[in-house]
Amino acid sequence: MAVTSHASLAMHEEATRLADGIRRLVYNIWWTWNPRAQQLFKTLSEEAWVKSNHSAVAVLQALTHDELIANLYSKRVGAMAAEVIEEFESYLADKNTWGAAHCPHFRQHPVAYFSAEFGFHESLPVYSGGLGILSGDHLKSSSDLDVPMIGITLFYRGGYFQQRLNADGWQEENYPPMDPRKLPVELVTDAQGEPIVCKLKIAHTDVAFHAWRLNVGRNVLYLLDTNRPENELHHREITARVYGGDQTTRVSQELMLGVGGVRFLRAIGVDPSVFHLNEGHSAFLLLELIREQIAQGKSLADAQAAVRKKAVFTTHTPVPAGHDRFSRDLMDHLLHCWPEALKMNTEQFMDLGREQPGNPADPFTMTVLALQNTRAANAVSELNGEVSREMWRHLYNNVEAEKVPIGHITNGVHILGWMNRVTYSFWEYNLGVEWLKHIMQPDFWEKVADPRFLSDEVIWSLRYRLKRQMIEAMRERLEFQQARIGGGMAYSGQLPMHPDSLTIGFARRFATYKRAALLFSDIDRAARLFNDPQRPLQMVISGKAHPRDDGGKGLIQQIYRISRDPRFFGKVFFIENYDIQVARYLVSGCDVWLNTPRRPLEASGTSGQKTTVHGCLNLSILDGWWREGYDGTNGFAIGEDTNSNNVAEQDKIDTENLYAMLENDVIPEYFDRDAMDLPRKWIQRIRRAMVTLIPQFNTDRMVADYATKYYLEHE
Ligand SMILES: *Cc1c(COP(=O)(O)O)cnc(C)c1O
Repeated sequence: MAVTSHASLAMHEEATRLADGIRRLVYNIWWTWNPRAQQLFKTLSEEAWVKSNHSAVAVLQALTHDELIANLYSKRVGAMAAEVIEEFESYLADKNTWGAAHCPHFRQHPVAYFSAEFGFHESLPVYSGGLGILSGDHLKSSSDLDVPMIGITLFYRGGYFQQRLNADGWQEENYPPMDPRKLPVELVTDAQGEPIVCKLKIAHTDVAFHAWRLNVGRNVLYLLDTNRPENELHHREITARVYGGDQTTRVSQELMLGVGGVRFLRAIGVDPSVFHLNEGHSAFLLLELIREQIAQGKSLADAQAAVRKKAVFTTHTPVPAGHDRFSRDLMDHLLHCWPEALKMNTEQFMDLGREQPGNPADPFTMTVLALQNTRAANAVSELNGEVSREMWRHLYNNVEAEKVPIGHITNGVHILGWMNRVTYSFWEYNLGVEWLKHIMQPDFWEKVADPRFLSDEVIWSLRYRLKRQMIEAMRERLEFQQARIGGGMAYSGQLPMHPDSLTIGFARRFATYKRAALLFSDIDRAARLFNDPQRPLQMVISGKAHPRDDGGKGLIQQIYRISRDPRFFGKVFFIENYDIQVARYLVSGCDVWLNTPRRPLEASGTSGQKTTVHGCLNLSILDGWWREGYDGTNGFAIGEDTNSNNVAEQDKIDTENLYAMLENDVIPEYFDRDAMDLPRKWIQRIRRAMVTLIPQFNTDRMVADYATKYYLEHE
């Protein structure tokens, strides 16, 4: 018979307690914005962590129970786990929060935040671009501030595609299916453990759906999923892909998101204090809310008034063509039961979404439905607000644009989620462990301007470490990519990026208005820039084009070919399969973040906001957020605060300004070194960026603005 000592029993109990804590940790993606938690998972199984694209679930599943317990017997691992679990639990338990002070009643009646995509982490690809990143960051900061919020989206089993280039540099897409058992999600079930199943009529069929729950710190996201055995195959596929399929799929997805979302919230007994529509995709939720009111006996006008009081709308899209518009035929077919449910005829129903009510040829525009049935609407930067007011004047009797009731709240980023361990430790060391609590306070950041507080040498050393990290990670990808694509020149072992080169980054969706190839408009002039031995320059480019956007794919091909051209080979790199992880490397490792949208089409843009905390500088057209962020000292502007309506003319002006800025300002300043080989002016610019931009362009400030200006009712 084995003899067990007390000490041994106590160790076992402690390890079991920690193992339970780790299980709770894994199923709350708070770990995606806590570098110490990530380090813990990496320590438990580096292989599972790396192979799964950093999934804590994969790590947990790789270890047997006994192995996990045994790991935790180690003093080092046990202490690490204890520290992270303690941090997590005190985060959840903290009562001294911004939300407790400003909106305590949201605890009973949370904000319901609807968005067609959410970008949280590389291991959960249910987003396609900036809109999703914004939603993910919104939910994370709501948790940090303790603004109770429930997110609603769809569970896209095929996610967004993975990108590969073929030997021609043409983008190919594939959709490896996600297995919910390998994600930090749980099926939503009732008290008996049965899935909660709701229904929604699409055309003539009741389509069933269930939901997955994702814990996001203090808050929750529900992902609705039509992949149920009782559904016909084409209905099971409604939620297969992010913005997948044709117009029928699109309307079906939007019905599921909006109407399905409200039905699901009712089924789990949630009565939100406010519904926030992030873009028009979810606007059908307003129909469901109106239907509920009418079913209770209200007149249409009273129903609409009651719904309007509860809903707010954020519009991003600055061009009329970008808004969802659905034809009368499509609406008649897919929403055929709705006019009757709302006690109106089909014409009246269509008028709910018409820019010209009464015009039978006018389609149903989701933005119109949203603007007319919400109590407040906003755009996502000051300029985007001006553009939106001008664009929708006709819905308000053509009043002057300033009187159109669309305001703006400029987007931000969730700083911690975009940070890597090096930067995190840097700020923790220099600003103290409580620094994250002060993210939105400008006076807290002022000390960074003072070289006695933070020396030039220390900032420069951070820059080199981050660049090294990025170079090593991208080199690995490039070698792998090169081996697969094959053809032509190879990087033949030598480091294909240089830490002393001024490194420009450009990564975002390859929508054509973002003009990824602007820097190469004059290829000879570009070649001169990239081939000055005294002032070495390199550029890293990454991004996906929408699967149906041949224009965007053409730009990728053009960049890929340039990267194989002897004049640019080894200096211009295209990195396949842009995702949150690649973004995190590039926004930290690059020296300059280039942004060249055709103004005013970049509603806000957020990638440039991710760079500042790492000491990377923005070089951007004065569009979206940068028009507000740039103050002449904290980065670089391309051109003026204006634009022409003539696209060709504007492209020409912007190209010239971009080259001039690089040749006369950016490159000379970076290579202007003193006796210690430090670029003092450049570093001064980095300080100015940190002081002026970090406290402003973050989602804590943004969510606090939403809460005070939009979520809380002002009588
Ligand atoms: C930040 C981010 C975006 C948005 O970038 P913009 O420059 O605002 O277009 C898109 N995709 C990923 C993966 C990101 O991290």
